[in-house]
Amino acid sequence: MGPTRLGTETLRRMLADLRAGADAALGTYLYKGLRIQVSRYGSTGTARTARLYRTRRERGLCVRCGAGVTRKNPSSGKLYRLCEAHRRKIDSVSA
Ligand SMILES: [Zn+2]
Repeated sequence: MGPTRLGTETLRRMLADLRAGADAALGTYLYKGLRIQVSRYGSTGTARTARLYRTRRERGLCVRCGAGVTRKNPSSGKLYRLCEAHRRKIDSVSA
């Protein structure tokens, strides 16, 4: 995923998240040709990975590649955690 382009309104929202110290402010942004990188200071790789997994899961994105997941697990009724390509790849490894 590339940087999020900020307009006046999205910049205002991002600054509000930033002021609140919310995880929602984390990310890479582009504003008038300037790149803004917001990351958690002192965060370990493990914490970053856990946060990435959680946000992708909440947004219904593949936890491996961030692609949108469309199919649901019939037994739980929830979206699969992997996209079709990664589900196939992992199924073929375990089969
Ligand atoms: Zn994937």
